[in-house]
Formats: sequence, structure tokens, C-alpha cells
Amino acid sequence: MAPSTPRSSTQKSAELFARANGIIPGGVNSPVRAFAAVGGTPRFIAKASGYTLTDADGNDLVDLVCSWGPMILGHAHPAVVEAVQKAAVGGLSFGAPTEAEIVLAEEIARRVKPVERVRLVNSGTEATMSAIRLARGFTGRAKIIKFAGCYHGHSDALLAQAGSGLATFGLPTSPGVTGASAADTIVLPYNDLAAVEAAFAANPDEIACVITEAAPGNMGVVPPGPGFNAGLRAITAKNGALFISDEVMTGFRVSAAGYYGVDPVDADIFTFGKVMSGGLPAAAFGGRAEVMARLAPQGPVYQAGTLSGNPVAVAAGLATLRAADADVYAALDRNAALLGKLMGESLEAAGVSHQVQFAGNMVSVFFADAPVTDYASAQASETWRFPAYFHALLDHGVYAPPSAYESWFVSAALDDRAFEIIAAAMPLAARAAAAAVKP
Ligand SMILES: *Cc1c(COP(=O)(O)O)cnc(C)c1O
Repeated sequence: MAPSTPRSSTQKSAELFARANGIIPGGVNSPVRAFAAVGGTPRFIAKASGYTLTDADGNDLVDLVCSWGPMILGHAHPAVVEAVQKAAVGGLSFGAPTEAEIVLAEEIARRVKPVERVRLVNSGTEATMSAIRLARGFTGRAKIIKFAGCYHGHSDALLAQAGSGLATFGLPTSPGVTGASAADTIVLPYNDLAAVEAAFAANPDEIACVITEAAPGNMGVVPPGPGFNAGLRAITAKNGALFISDEVMTGFRVSAAGYYGVDPVDADIFTFGKVMSGGLPAAAFGGRAEVMARLAPQGPVYQAGTLSGNPVAVAAGLATLRAADADVYAALDRNAALLGKLMGESLEAAGVSHQVQFAGNMVSVFFADAPVTDYASAQASETWRFPAYFHALLDHGVYAPPSAYESWFVSAALDDRAFEIIAAAMPLAARAAAAAVKP
């Protein structure tokens, strides 16, 4: 049976966090890792294998974060490790083209039909930033539309959010993002096609593109309503703007073809990252040949990268995609459904209002009594219950995302033993959420 004694020793993680804070701002190299939203000390990870993370104190945790998505096969998958080792022995970086880059690009295009050309980059941030530049270069227009609660990486133009919820010009939400770089970003409520129509009517011939998460996971999981992505396709086509589907999170996770395989809407440009990197820094954007032809050196829109198409990262991504067969996608779907069922049943039993929401095999829970459809309804949920819920899971060996506004990610490596641990922890977490007090 699963262990019921809470793990207690996190002393080594605490020491490392204190030391990290002396040299790295906030002690981490990406903000959500710091546990700021849930309190407590982040676990420093020593190693990982399959579904298990082992922290610096030797505690084993069932991983439901999977490096924020990439590790669909589980950690240190033998085929991926072997591909990386083989590539590394052959040289780490050349700054010259390689055959493996073609094979990875072909594999992406084979899986996602509207993708005719692919450019490899190093992060999802670069992919979306470059896609926006390409859309502006292609259309000769400046303005872009994004949706509140959708995250597309941390480039200036895409950090803008709708602070007031009004369909108006975005305001910088981070110091350092100038008004000028945010002024061309129109932020609209998610799942609201009428707002998109109105923005195009108010800005005739000025909007270069609409960018959306194919299915948002960065405000928690908020699936697109029926026909929403298709509606964006129709409105952008009618107005001479491009449609960018950001599949950095969903791509090659929710199906072999990503969200495109679930909701086949032909975007002009798709962005990819996470799973296609196999856990190393690699990402991509791709789309119609006519649009992609505007990229340098074929066209005038500049985009480059010293390490783009890195042979080790490409090997990891390719090995991951090759291993991700129909059985893997079936396992991901099964595991997400079971995780969501365990969440829902335990919260039901504890009497906590909740919505378990899915987009393919991405899943998250909102403490709310009606479905969450946009950022405003996500923010209106009882997020103050989340820290207690999170820490009860962590104390009982389950590593969930340390924020109420994140998707949970399953791997195909989760087995009966992993689900015993999860099933034992869930009722305790649900009771902790029930007992949480509104601050
Ligand atoms: C993670 C993510 C990004 C940014 O990718 P990085 O590799 O972290 O720069 C962009 N878009 C979406 C939808 C993401 O989930």
C-alpha cells in the first residue's frame, strides 16, 4: 500500500534555497519554481527516472509537472538518453546545418498537416516572438491580438495583459516593458469571438495577427469553447490577418498532432516547444510555405540563433517524438482521465466546490462552482485553497504544479504504484483544501 507517513526532511532543499538566494535572484531561474504562490521551500531535484523525482534530501515524488510538459515518456527514458549520448559524442554544436535538423522538421510537418516549412529555435519564447515578427513582416501591419490569461513566453509584446478586462490596448504588466512595445498589443477576453470581431472593426487593416494558445493551460486548463478556434480562423482570414496557434504546451502532447489533432483548425503559423525538445532547449515555428518564405535568408524578415538546431537538442526531440506512438498517447489520455477522476471524487467527498477541467490530456482543478471559461473566471475561483491542497499532496509524495494557474502534466510512465500514491494523497489534500481559511 501507499505510504501514509508524511515526508518531513527538506533540510537540504532549504539549505540550497538559502544559498541560491545569495547568487540567483529569488533563488530560481524561472519564477514559478520558487513556490511563491504556495509558500514553503522549493524542492531541489537531484535526479529523476520514469515518474519519480528524487529531491536533494532523498525524498521520492510522483511527478505531475513533467518539466512543465516535455517529459511525456517519463524522465531519463532509455531511448532518449541513448540518442543524446550518441549525439554528444559526435560533437556538441557546429553552427552549420546537419541532417538531423531536416529529419526533425519533416517529423513535425508530417504530424501537423498545415505546417509546410519549419524553423528551429531554442525556446518557446523565441518561437512566438519570431512568429509575431513574421506575421507583421508578412502583412505590413503592426497590431496584434492576444487573449488575457494566455502565456506565450516573455517577449515584451506578449507580456501585455488586460488588467481591467476591457478590450483595449494592453498595458505593460512588467516594469521594463515600455508603453510603446505594449501599445500594439490588443488584449481580449478568452472565448469571446464578438470581442475579436469588434477589435477588427475598430482597427481596420491594422491587425497583423491573432495569437492564441491552441487550448490554454497557462491560466489553469481552460479549453476553447466549440468553434472558438475555427471562429478565429474565419475572422482573421476575412480581415487579411494571420492566425497563430501557439502549441508550445499542447503540441505533440495532447495527440500525435497536438491540439491540431483534437481540433483541426488550419492556422497560418504554429509554434512548438516543450515535448519536441525532449527536455533540452529546442523549439520551433512553422506554417504555410508562402508565409515562412518571408524568413531570412529566403526573405527579408530576420531571425537567427547561434545554437538553433543544436545536434544534442534535436536528437532528444527526435527520439522523444519517435517513441511517442499510439500507445503513449493512449496512456497519456488514460492517466489524465484517472488523475482528474481522483481529484474530482476526493474533492466531492470533502465537500469542496470544484471544476476539474481538461484539454485533451492536460488537466487542472479550479475551486469554483461553475466552469472556468476565461481569465476573469479563473481569477474569481477560490485560489486561496490551493496552497493547502498543494502542500498536502507534496507532503504525501505527489509533486503537483506549485500554482493554481497551471496545468498538471501526466507522463506515460505513471503506473499502478504511482496511482496508489496519488490515490492515497488526494483525499488528504481535498480535506486540507476544505479546511483552508480565506485570508
Ligand atoms: C511554455 C510556453 C511558452 C514559452 O516557452 P519557453 O520555452 O518557456 O520560452 C510559450 N507558449 C506557451 C503556450 C507555453 O506554454
